[in-house]
Amino acid sequence: MNLNAPATREEIVALYQNPILDLVYRAATVHRVHHDPRQVQVCTLLSIKTGGCPENCSYCSQSAHFDTGLERQDLLSLDAVREAAERAAAAGSTRFCMGAAWRQVRDGVEFDRVLDMVRTVAATGMEVCCTLGMLNADQAQRLREAGLHAYNHNLDTGEDYYPEIVSTRTYRDRLETLGHVGRAGISVCCGGILGMGEIPHLKRSPPVRVQRVEQGARAPRQAAMRKEEQ
Ligand code: SF4
Repeated sequence: MNLNAPATREEIVALYQNPILDLVYRAATVHRVHHDPRQVQVCTLLSIKTGGCPENCSYCSQSAHFDTGLERQDLLSLDAVREAAERAAAAGSTRFCMGAAWRQVRDGVEFDRVLDMVRTVAATGMEVCCTLGMLNADQAQRLREAGLHAYNHNLDTGEDYYPEIVSTRTYRDRLETLGHVGRAGISVCCGGILGMGEIPHLKRSPPVRVQRVEQGARAPRQAAMRKEEQ
């Protein structure tokens, strides 16, 4: 498949319907061309603000729209994040990712605290990653200046199918944030979820464009994610 040209519907459906082990084999083959296959980066993921999210992503236990039994937790203190980061670095992690269940970043004391968290984690020598929801160009720049290495922001599903999965934002909103992240010089960490009922829709939909989000945006390095106990 040529990533610089629109993929046909048939190409996408054929790729999607490959047996999973064939896809794993093909992905591993491409991975070996670009990376040492025996090297794995260990990354620790810490939820810095949990639950109560105003978005209605239908796959997510942190959405306030669904009764999932998840206990809501406000933004962690800087000290709590420092302690978690030091534990992670001592245990061998070289990347530390902080996730907040926010729709978007809002300027103010909480974002200022997150910037302090980024500076604190960066001081340990680990790569710092965040996932905070949508952000604007200025916020992306401030995160970069604080020492942010990567920003996770997933595209969830296809553009035409998007309203079936999330209706509180649009696919275009996601692309806009990814553009701000890429232009700020932050590594883009972006994925999606397959298997949410999209295949019948995909067969009916117009040709799909597989595109690079932003020139210069780098693919995330392979990471082994370990959930930090809080
Ligand atoms: S924006 Fe993130 S935290 Fe909020 S509901 Fe969607 S996936 Fe969950």
